[in-house]
Amino acid sequence: MYSKKEIDALIKNTPILQDIIDAKPVSWINPELLPFDDAPKFSLGMKDMEVAEQLWIRFAPFFVKAFPETSESAGILESTLREIPNMKAVLEGNHGNFDGGLFLKCDHELPIAGSIKARGGFFEIIKYAEKLALEAGLLKKEDDYSKLLAPEFREFFRKYKIGVSSTGNLGLGIGIMSAKLGFEVTVYVSADAKQWKKELLREKGVIVIEFDGDFSEAVLAGRQQTLTDPNAHFVDDEDSEDLFIGYTGGALRIAEQLKAQKVMVDVDHPLFVYSPCGVGGSPGGIAFGLKQIYGDHVHCFFIEPTHSPGVLTGLVTAEMSHISVQDIGLDNQTEADGLAVGRPSHFATKISKHLVSGIFTLEDDQLFKLLAQLKDSENIFLEPSATAGLIGPQRIQISEYAKTHHLNLKNATHIVWATGGLLVPEYQRTAFYERGQHLLKTE
Ligand SMILES: *Cc1c(COP(=O)(O)O)cnc(C)c1O
Repeated sequence: MYSKKEIDALIKNTPILQDIIDAKPVSWINPELLPFDDAPKFSLGMKDMEVAEQLWIRFAPFFVKAFPETSESAGILESTLREIPNMKAVLEGNHGNFDGGLFLKCDHELPIAGSIKARGGFFEIIKYAEKLALEAGLLKKEDDYSKLLAPEFREFFRKYKIGVSSTGNLGLGIGIMSAKLGFEVTVYVSADAKQWKKELLREKGVIVIEFDGDFSEAVLAGRQQTLTDPNAHFVDDEDSEDLFIGYTGGALRIAEQLKAQKVMVDVDHPLFVYSPCGVGGSPGGIAFGLKQIYGDHVHCFFIEPTHSPGVLTGLVTAEMSHISVQDIGLDNQTEADGLAVGRPSHFATKISKHLVSGIFTLEDDQLFKLLAQLKDSENIFLEPSATAGLIGPQRIQISEYAKTHHLNLKNATHIVWATGGLLVPEYQRTAFYERGQHLLKTE
């Protein structure tokens, strides 16, 4: 815990902290951003991204057989990159014109998990499953991995347990994938997890344990209960390297997609990427991956709710994962359940420290308005968290960022990372949409 005196000292160092404490929307530009070549090197790099890609390729035959909806893409899990000019016009109607093209990275359509967790969460599970099967002599890397669905493998995996704590989507991703392989999987959910997510998990044979407290408490409990068992693996959202590497995969293929759409990224054509941020793992992984490819030509921004700015608080104060939003008096209450995270990831935040260009915060109402406007203008449905990035381009337009970095915004490309939505049930979609509509009408 932090004393009042300590918090006051932090505010004195970084006055923006007062606005964060007051739950005001802020646009923070990271003074610690370093040129890519000068940023500290971590044990991770392009090589790890390529090794990860090979793992996905080995598992492709497994995905085709286990989840027929992936057969169209030959078992490779990927989403489209879509230009959204109608939404650009709507945003400009809201808050004024901005330069550059606007694209949506449609991870809300990722198969099976229906969210970006299909990258990080699935990766951690398939990596663990492969390791176990290789060590037991049941599998060779040259094999056709669809054999992992045979009864002998289910029997084998049943001896191992997986635990994960989640506000919802990570639990969905880990739960569905682990159950498919035959693992005994337990998801520890925080009080803010949506009912339909819990129901869906139980339907798939996942054990769901509910917690009264918030996400960090669910993580603590899950970690303690899982780690006492030598045959159990805990997916630690607050500190997982595998989750992080899984997320970097989104970067490798977006480079191909941009090329296919003849979008240039270079010194005269800056690329801006806006990612909704919870613990900072998915936005950090994507930023890290994109930096390996585009270096200083890509500018990565994270977006957090005003009531749950965990990563922002960690970076602004330089207290990193030691500090939580509760420590500064915020309640960590937000409708964006994927972002209701009070304490940032230890692993990811260290890496983001010198790579992220800035963090913007927004109020919950804004999420619902954007949700309704995106549905009306582009006929795309996202869950509330996933709309957060849409505020990015206009925050850039009015900030000093482009000027200080000598960027020509006229040639910019803005990519809003849409992180989830596919699995949201119809009644819930209607309720979200109507809430947005109502807010727009009463503005
Ligand atoms: C998990 C999630 C995020 C944030 O990812 P973190 O790794 O927690 O930062 C954003 N949006 C959605 C929909 C998510 O499920």
